[in-house]
Amino acid sequence: MSTIKKGKALVEPEERQTIFAVPMSEKEKALIALQERQTNPPKKINNSDLYAGSPMYFYCKICDGAIVLPESFTCAVPKLCDECDFMKGMGWFE
Ligand SMILES: [Zn+2]
Repeated sequence: MSTIKKGKALVEPEERQTIFAVPMSEKEKALIALQERQTNPPKKINNSDLYAGSPMYFYCKICDGAIVLPESFTCAVPKLCDECDFMKGMGWFE
């Protein structure tokens, strides 16, 4: 009698479910999203090409994501987009 059953799946259904059920951590998700932003950088806009009153475009130092500020912004220009700023705050770039 053979111990190998014909047509047996390599991974048992219950096992397979366990593999897919492992949740990605917030950090992993954020790092994947970061990679996607770095792979598809936005087309850069030259602020001087825009008409007066247009929002100002800046770009994240890490992922090149656009940071859009109203022309009349009063705060310092952020170096990082919201996502990267959050990740930096969490210490995920270290
Ligand atoms: Zn960023």
